[in-house]
Amino acid sequence: MATAGPISAIRSLAERPENSRCAECLASGTTVASLDTGGTFACNACAIAYRKAGLRTKSIERDRWQEAEVAAMQGNLAVAQQLERNLPAFYRRPLPHADADVIRQQFVLAKYKRKEFTDPAMQVAYHRLCGGGFSKEGALMKRLKDSDKYLPRHFELSEKNNYLRYFVKDGQREAKNTIPIDQVNVTMLGSAVDGHPNLMQIMFPQGSRTRSLYVYHDEDQEIINWYNAVRGCKYYRYQMSLLSADELRQLTLTYDFIICDWLCKTGPNQTEAWKRRWCFLLRRSIFYFTNFMEPLAKGEIWLGERPGFSVESGAPANFKKKPVGHIFTLRTPDRDYVFSAETQDACRRWIYAIDEVLDSQPTPQDFLYSKTRSNSA
Ligand SMILES: [Zn+2]
Repeated sequence: MATAGPISAIRSLAERPENSRCAECLASGTTVASLDTGGTFACNACAIAYRKAGLRTKSIERDRWQEAEVAAMQGNLAVAQQLERNLPAFYRRPLPHADADVIRQQFVLAKYKRKEFTDPAMQVAYHRLCGGGFSKEGALMKRLKDSDKYLPRHFELSEKNNYLRYFVKDGQREAKNTIPIDQVNVTMLGSAVDGHPNLMQIMFPQGSRTRSLYVYHDEDQEIINWYNAVRGCKYYRYQMSLLSADELRQLTLTYDFIICDWLCKTGPNQTEAWKRRWCFLLRRSIFYFTNFMEPLAKGEIWLGERPGFSVESGAPANFKKKPVGHIFTLRTPDRDYVFSAETQDACRRWIYAIDEVLDSQPTPQDFLYSKTRSNSA
């Protein structure tokens, strides 16, 4: 009987359900395989991370395959059972498609090069080994509040004491800011903004507004350790608050931008000049800033539920200003917000993203960030 040959063998292996999702980000549709990982199938984005990590890849469709190579492919499930056997539940996997490069790259390096997820003892930089709670301290470069300079600041994270705090000078008694862990959000900015590739945005409620700190570390691994350490502390704090295993699994520990872009907007009278604003949608709020990396947003718009809130393309009927770009209107019980995107595609993406949020029910955690926090600037 004739054998099907290595080409059809690798293709049928790639089509198995466990191999048709990327071994790293779980995106559906795999195009590339690597023997250096033990035999995993991955998407294009994760294949780039493989190659940067020195792991060779082969195209499933375009490259020549030898029978011995196909036989050596263990597949995504077998490799994960081995190399992710102690992957902490809170550790952030890369997401399909767009995600901060540093998250994808460090996941690949941690899994295959450092083999961090095989042994909890290798996770001490972001994971507690036993009871008593996790703590971490060290210097991070922090952007100054009123300038684009960065200076080292001493940061401390304590699961037991429930805080992330930082000090301006070593040995100082009083922390500059002390943030309860359940109120802190960390986002790896990646290429979303101009700046250091390792930039992490730390957000927390301050009074009726949301404060942002911007920090980085020169070592990719260390900033990702901090990022996952914050997630780990949140995870264990939630675990203590009697959430069931199922609720814990569904918990979003940290939030990323759903969409971000420069948009123009007018003021509440809709006669004010168009002003360019750096905007992002995070969780259930649109934040708009005069510039990148400011400590406080110019405004925050809470997205509640329909029918009080809605979004549509175009300006309101009585809109008096000369339209620029591609306009959409966000209606809230307080006022209409008129935004303008540079391209029609960007306009459509914002409407789609806002619609998705409005279609979902706010969770109790969403209300941590108050729904009253919007201003009319
Ligand atoms: Zn992937």
